[in-house]
Amino acid sequence: MVTDEARTGVEKPDTVIVGGGLAGLSTGIALAESGIDTAIIESRRKANADIFGFLLWPPGTRTLRWLGVLPEALRNGAELESLAWFVVGKKHTWMNVDLAELDAGTFLGIRPSRLESILREAALAAGVRIYDSVDDWSLRREHAAWTMRLQREDGPVDLRTPLLIGADGSGSRLRSELGLTSSRWQPRGQVIVTGVGGPLPEQGSRQALSAAGSGGCVSLGEKASWLYTVAQESDVSDPGSALRDYAHLDSLDATYATAFDQVERTAVVRPWTVTVPRWSTDGAMLMGDAAHGMLPHLGLGGSLTLEDVPLLSEVVEEAVRTGDFCAPRLSAFQQRRQARTAYAQRTSNQWARVLCSTTPGARTARDLAMRRMARNMELAQRFYRELASPSGPSLGTRMRMMMP
Ligand SMILES: Cc1cc2nc3c(=O)[nH]c(=O)nc-3n(C[C@H](O)[C@H](O)[C@H](O)COP(=O)(O)OP(=O)(O)OC[C@H]3O[C@@H](n4cnc5c(N)ncnc54)[C@H](O)[C@@H]3O)c2cc1C
Repeated sequence: MVTDEARTGVEKPDTVIVGGGLAGLSTGIALAESGIDTAIIESRRKANADIFGFLLWPPGTRTLRWLGVLPEALRNGAELESLAWFVVGKKHTWMNVDLAELDAGTFLGIRPSRLESILREAALAAGVRIYDSVDDWSLRREHAAWTMRLQREDGPVDLRTPLLIGADGSGSRLRSELGLTSSRWQPRGQVIVTGVGGPLPEQGSRQALSAAGSGGCVSLGEKASWLYTVAQESDVSDPGSALRDYAHLDSLDATYATAFDQVERTAVVRPWTVTVPRWSTDGAMLMGDAAHGMLPHLGLGGSLTLEDVPLLSEVVEEAVRTGDFCAPRLSAFQQRRQARTAYAQRTSNQWARVLCSTTPGARTARDLAMRRMARNMELAQRFYRELASPSGPSLGTRMRMMMP
């Protein structure tokens, strides 16, 4: 039988996802498994080389479990056992959150390229069509549907769909093409020096705070770890030595320092928080960093991106079932997600401000908050547990953390 698509040379998926990163691939799996014909377009030709690691919190790993890929991700990464905090120059742990005792769900450390390849394989197995190496695309809206022309090395491809999902990251081109406004913020003068190093002796995350900033390491499995330093740009003359300086701080014992002698690659990044007042318009919606890009300071951006997936899928399934792709229906996704993502953005902005600041009093405020948590482990555990739940920390917990 000659299909309509074959006759016209136009493919007609139910939805096209722009961006084949964490958000796009995981949403693709969820939609395809619900029987929704899904295509993903991606500009990259292959996975990026890893310059950082994912520390995924339970909101993220719950979605990976729901998609059926958590066991494979754990085989390729590390199930973290503890989150430890140090004061630089003092040889004691400030605070050590035992994650088994916390009992809030799975914390995972994994290389981004590993997670991407697991998700990509699952997406293809679920029947998602992935168009990689898209050099450029153009968009036209006619009769309540989008026509997208993809420019690829082997010739153009036309896609026609009633629904576009923008999963193209914090600098989203789709967001601009749709006329959805955004604003961005970054901590002044601050950079993150990041790299992937050798294995750590324990499966955990260790972060040290000093007068100049902060540095840390996260286990990414048997062979690798993520190493990072948050510093004032003026203090970083060479990224490699900025990471090694952290390794030789008194608080880190020698067994950890070997991870820093095996650094594959380093990079200096200046990420943004992106605030988008409206996430949808007729026939299109945004998700992940395209809707709520946040600073990596709390390691929550990827987890909240994954947390979007089940709710977004519910809204899309309903839209496909009813054939109603108007903005009011699609905005149900933002209504259900905005409070949580706005809280996480605010918290990571505040943390970025105090983590490495030249403003008088900011470091004192940071150290007082840490000391309060360290002295009251029950409060620290409650805060972490609530942050790892779908609703986020209650007002009561937040108030107690600010009280002397
Ligand atoms: C240094 C650093 C450390 C981090 N650490 C953590 C952490 O520990 N834990 C955590 O949870 N999060 C962390 N994050 C945040 C996390 O990386 C992001 O929140 C997450 O990757 C967002 O996923 P996304 O799919 O929305 O966007 P992205 O990962 O940015 O994916 C967007 C995709 O869209 C593609 N694309 C872009 N433009 C186009 C276009 N015009 N056409 C087609 N395709 C396009 C890109 O190639 C890319 O594949 C960190 C971020 C950084 C920078």
